Amino acid sequence: MKIGHRISLLILLPAMLVMLVGLVLSGWFLHSLQSRYEAQAHSQAQDLETLRMAADFNRQVGLIHGRASQALDQARSGELDELSLYRVHASIVNELQPVTNLVQLLATSELLLDVNHNSAKGMEEQYASYRSMVIMATEIAAVDPTTASRHFDIAQQNFTEFTIFANRIAGLLTERALLRNSDAFSSLNSFFKQLVVFGLLSAFIVLVLAWAAGQLLSRRMRVIADALKSLAHEQVERVTLPEIEQMRTQGTGELRDIAGALLLFREAIAKRKLAEEQAHQLAYYDSLTSLPNRRLLGDRLEHACAVSAINGDHGAVLWLDLDRFKVINDSRGHAAGDSLLREVSARLQRLLKRGETVARIGGDEFVIVLESIEGGVSDVLLAVDERANRIRETLSLPYEVGGGSHFSTPSIGVALFCGDDETVERLLMHAETAMYQAKDAGRNAISFYDPGMQAQVEARAVLESELRTALEQRQLELFYQPQVNAVSEVVGVEALIRWRHPEHGLVSPADFIPLAEETGLILPMGLWVIETACDQLAVWQDKSFESTLTIAVNVSGSQFRQDRFVQQMEEILFRTGAEPSRLKLELTESIVLENIESTVRKMRQLKALGVRFALDDFGTGYSSLQYLKRLPLDQLKIDQSFVRDLVEDPDDRVIVNAIIAMGQALGLEVIAEGVETSEQQLILAASGCDLYQGYLYSRPLPLADLQSVLNSYSKGVAHKVQLGH
Ligand code: C2E
Ligand code: CA
Ligand code: CA
Repeated sequence: MKIGHRISLLILLPAMLVMLVGLVLSGWFLHSLQSRYEAQAHSQAQDLETLRMAADFNRQVGLIHGRASQALDQARSGELDELSLYRVHASIVNELQPVTNLVQLLATSELLLDVNHNSAKGMEEQYASYRSMVIMATEIAAVDPTTASRHFDIAQQNFTEFTIFANRIAGLLTERALLRNSDAFSSLNSFFKQLVVFGLLSAFIVLVLAWAAGQLLSRRMRVIADALKSLAHEQVERVTLPEIEQMRTQGTGELRDIAGALLLFREAIAKRKLAEEQAHQLAYYDSLTSLPNRRLLGDRLEHACAVSAINGDHGAVLWLDLDRFKVINDSRGHAAGDSLLREVSARLQRLLKRGETVARIGGDEFVIVLESIEGGVSDVLLAVDERANRIRETLSLPYEVGGGSHFSTPSIGVALFCGDDETVERLLMHAETAMYQAKDAGRNAISFYDPGMQAQVEARAVLESELRTALEQRQLELFYQPQVNAVSEVVGVEALIRWRHPEHGLVSPADFIPLAEETGLILPMGLWVIETACDQLAVWQDKSFESTLTIAVNVSGSQFRQDRFVQQMEEILFRTGAEPSRLKLELTESIVLENIESTVRKMRQLKALGVRFALDDFGTGYSSLQYLKRLPLDQLKIDQSFVRDLVEDPDDRVIVNAIIAMGQALGLEVIAEGVETSEQQLILAASGCDLYQGYLYSRPLPLADLQSVLNSYSKGVAHKVQLGH
């Protein structure tokens, strides 16, 4: 049986069953209706026959009665002779005989007995009397007309009587027949009603059953449709179809076959997908490392250029070539070479961020595409150089291959791109060219394709190594800038680092602090600054005036974030013997906000030692009372950018006013830095600023110069700090 047949059977079977039952029942109904109808028709025919007989009787008796009456009249008038009269009498007697039979039939008729027994009886009696009277009257009419007339009178009376009876009977019979008719009609009517109700009921049941069967079927069809849909749309290799699997094991007949077919179909799809993936893998990936191959790299790079054209960010192509890779292949065999390449690929993949690509494009050559590097060209350069260096360092770590440690280094060529002006081929060519430059430069190196960029990167590399030397050879120095109160008395100094470069002279911290931060040199450098400042505090401790001074030290974020920072501070304070309350650490808002919980904790620990805190460059960051009140600060330092235009810019005046008011509200000392003119000082003083720092009083001074200022100041030579260098 085909599935279509089976499904239609599933729907039709209940319907057919109900229809069969309906047919049997209606047959039975019809049969009983027919017999009922026949019985009624029979009794109706009988009723009609009785009625006809009654009418017949009336008519015939009427005729006979008329003849008898006429004969008697003619006898009385002598119109008829005796013989004729006798003939009339004989014929009347003859004619009365069938009427008598009729009366008997009538009187015994079922209908009449049923309707009114007495009337039948009365009519029969009256008729019998009538009959004998008419016979007697006609018999003796010729002999004795008078007696005959008397008899006829009686007969006349009888006639009237039974006519009344007969009419009544006729009326009753008619009524009765009508009644029977209407009975038959209503019985038929109710039968039809029952039939209609039954019909509706069975139709309803058929519908319900068909609906239920349809539901059952459509649920299964839905399961099958869903399964087909997910087979069509799911990207996963093997779609899970628990319901279909259940149908396969627990179902019967064609549905089970369909489920089986679906599962086979799924296997076929899975195999096809696998084959497609394998084909794709072969076409776009390197079989040794599973990294994208040159072809896929081309696509990715093209996409990266298109994205860069849209968002305006830079990207970079890094071409890596392993130095002297041939050596490992020759000395330890190709298997060792392969596992080294696999390890290189694994290390490279670990170094990548989301969306970045590393591809293997030749024996020992890899290409990395970095995308969406934000910032200006020099920021991008720095970022790429840093990434390239990390890659170089990571690949330079020893490899465990071929049963021993092996060292390998890469040469890296870099080409930056922004937008899609360069073709993919040219970009790759540039990066490769740069890689050869790196090889020429002695291998294990990074080279930028752009000569200007290369120069910039090299200059930075030089600076970095020089900075290391500076730290070792004590080329760093602290300058001190006085901080004064409202009456220009020195109350402290800020320690500012300087690099006395053997060739370039004094180098500003702005030029080397960022590099120090990036390279991590800031940590030993910052430690040195704090130690030097604390040494100075210890030296001043014994002097009368200087012992009252504080030294403010700038602390960088990475320095402060160190877990060991509090401990280091404690050790330095202990070793130098500096008075902790004379040391003031300057933190910026960005440091504080980075992780407010741990910052507050550390600040509290340091406060417990007696150290004080200033919030540097205040107003440039996210200045919110919310966090300000949580910090155990001592001083707010108004950023010099607000002081600079204070005289001209009313907005800056408003800001400065607000900062001072905020500081006062929080019970903090407020210091303004970058104060260069007395106008600025006057405005600040009017707002209630506590302390001042800037060229108006003194530039940052080397220790010797500061000392002579302080000496003259403490000896009373100077009442105020005068403009320094
Ligand atoms: P900063 O902490 O805001 O330091 C104030 C800067 O303003 C100093 O620049 C100072 O010389 C300069 N300055 C002072 N008065 C005036 C003035 O009246 N007018 C103008 N135009 N400038 C004035 P410097 O010494 O070049 O320091 C620059 C930045 O380098 C400092 O900004 C600080 O963030 C950082 N720095 C300096 N020394 C250190 C240090 O030892 N450690 C750390 N982590 N950072 C330091
Ligand atoms: Ca500062
Ligand atoms: Ca500052």
